[in-house]
Amino acid sequence: MPTSTPVSSSDFHPVEAMADLRHEFGEHGGVNMSIEASTTFSVLDAKTLPEIFRGLRGPDQCGCFLYGRHFNPTVYNLGKQLAQMEGAEAGYCTSSGMGAISSVLLQCCDMGDEILASSTIYGGTYALLHDYLPKKCGIKTHFVDVQDLSFVMNSITPKTKVIYVETISNPMLQVADIPALAQIAKKHGIKLIVDNTFSPLMVSPIKLGADIVVYSLTKYINGASDIIAGAVCASHSFIESMMDLHLGSLMLLGPTLDPHSASAISLRLPHLYLRIKEHSQRALLFSKRLKDLGVTVIYPGLEGHSGKKILERVGHQEFGYGGIFCVDMGTSEKANQLMDTLQNEQKFGIMAVSLGFSETLMTCPASTTSSEMTDEDLRKSGILPGLVRMSIGYTGTVEQRWSQLEQAVKKIASL
Ligand SMILES: *Cc1c(COP(=O)(O)O)cnc(C)c1O
Repeated sequence: MPTSTPVSSSDFHPVEAMADLRHEFGEHGGVNMSIEASTTFSVLDAKTLPEIFRGLRGPDQCGCFLYGRHFNPTVYNLGKQLAQMEGAEAGYCTSSGMGAISSVLLQCCDMGDEILASSTIYGGTYALLHDYLPKKCGIKTHFVDVQDLSFVMNSITPKTKVIYVETISNPMLQVADIPALAQIAKKHGIKLIVDNTFSPLMVSPIKLGADIVVYSLTKYINGASDIIAGAVCASHSFIESMMDLHLGSLMLLGPTLDPHSASAISLRLPHLYLRIKEHSQRALLFSKRLKDLGVTVIYPGLEGHSGKKILERVGHQEFGYGGIFCVDMGTSEKANQLMDTLQNEQKFGIMAVSLGFSETLMTCPASTTSSEMTDEDLRKSGILPGLVRMSIGYTGTVEQRWSQLEQAVKKIASL
């Protein structure tokens, strides 16, 4: 197991770390691990089961398994692979990204506690923090601009238990300064939780001082848009606390992942780094060329974007600046015309929410994925009605895709 001693991200390479993990073979010597299709596990002698309940035996102590909601070998193996990728001590896979996020927040916060969250986050997370948690659990969130570090610091009160950010935020692509936020969290004895869904391999938040990393595996990590899944990576003791029989939110809310899905995702992990590199290279090239055409583009790889320098300081440069950019078409009518043309005339991409797929996916965040936000919060976050978010895919050749994009943009923006 790796340790989570803070080292600079340049000392840690996620792909090398993954290759260091002992390979799990299948039951009959298969090169891939078997799918463990059992929900309950037998023991050789009667005193073993109570020992598992008392925490004296488990997957890491004699390979003892008990019940699938607790740990399943196939799901456990994927959690180990993801922990290795993050440089975390432990990982647990959930049935969705929201399952991971909600369980982690409920584990860290009790009734009356408060959360400081970035004002530009995924719409589902925003609704959980803004609407669900205060009403159902008495946990209140203050939304802040996490770029403003002194404001973050001054917003912490004795009730604050968590700082919650996305490494690269959805959809505005702001980049969080994780080392600086981690320092603030440590100083106040609170936890920094980072959603790294947009930037797997690109940034290793745990190595930069974050306490907990959450993922929607549904996006880049699985990459095929066929499975909903999530993960939590953290210290052994935190994951153990989430499995507690009385107060563990993974154990008691039960959002575990299905072993068939875990197996499928684990078969796609070895080529994640090839996919991320290609997503990033194409997004950088297209965003530069669009900017040269005179289009307003938001992309953390472009000069003038506040996130560029942060990513260059904290990120693993070979994975680039990510596969997502936004173009501002000015009005929602033009945004819709652009997406219609790109899908139905040019065959450049597909109008759909989600991201990290082999094909380009396009949405208009203000009216879809961020529509949970109030009009005022949308405006404050800069999510304009004419914004189109593109998750750039890697099918087709680069110049074929560029020519499709260029023709559509020139036509709709009358360039
Ligand atoms: C999609 C997404 C989620 C939610 O994940 P699900 O797997 O759909 O539950 C959380 N955070 C970010 C940044 C996302 O893009």
